[in-house]
Amino acid sequence: MRKNIVAGNWKMNKNLQEGIALAKELNEILAADKPNCDVVICTPFIHLASVTPLVDANLIGVGAENCADKVSGAYTGEVSAEMVASTGAKYVILGHSERRAYYHETPEILKEKVKLALANGLTPIFCIGEVLEEREAGKQNEVVYAQLAGSLYDLSAEDFSKIILAYEPVWAIGTGKTATAEQAQEIHAYIRSTIADKYGKEVAENTSILYGGSCKPSNAKELFANKDVDGGLIGGAALKAADFKGIIDAFK
Ligand code: PEP
Repeated sequence: MRKNIVAGNWKMNKNLQEGIALAKELNEILAADKPNCDVVICTPFIHLASVTPLVDANLIGVGAENCADKVSGAYTGEVSAEMVASTGAKYVILGHSERRAYYHETPEILKEKVKLALANGLTPIFCIGEVLEEREAGKQNEVVYAQLAGSLYDLSAEDFSKIILAYEPVWAIGTGKTATAEQAQEIHAYIRSTIADKYGKEVAENTSILYGGSCKPSNAKELFANKDVDGGLIGGAALKAADFKGIIDAFK
């Protein structure tokens, strides 16, 4: 059975003390009122080693927002999947549209990152999604298919089953514009159908596909109610414990 998941992406926000305070606050809130879904917080690298021992692993999984496409060595400033895993983190966001756009991460680079994440026991939260012009040209299915095929569809079925997908229309990220529940359901169903074509119905049915893009407490329930939307990847609203909890509560 696929899991319902609400994952936060802190991006480049919160210094270490602020991050620790947010993680503690969220942990307390969720300990007092248990979530009905898996909860993950993906933090800047420098927070990971401090945050993982602070939170109850039964309530909150911790992840990074990226990892290197190389194992180790002379890659100044990079952080490897092995290093991420050594902090106790269990997840890593890969292929976020900001990484693709600002740091020129190609499907080939992401393929390497996915392999290294899996080799180190991390669960990739792999992001796909089209930009506005592609949506307006009706090319969203083509775009997400190319992103999936370009980075993931060489994986074995066993490895693919370890991946969480996040469909994030780029035009909805941080813009306040949200895909409608119908738009989200339509493309999530398409994504699941391509997984079924590639890996079979069982793998497709067991893959969690999250929606991301201006998700907030007021729209989460309607989005997550769709049969192929298994939760959310949350940016801005993950930075306040009460807002993030409001989204988690969409599963109640
Ligand atoms: C994100 O960047 O993953 C995201 C969904 O951001 P926001 O919720 O702020 O749109």
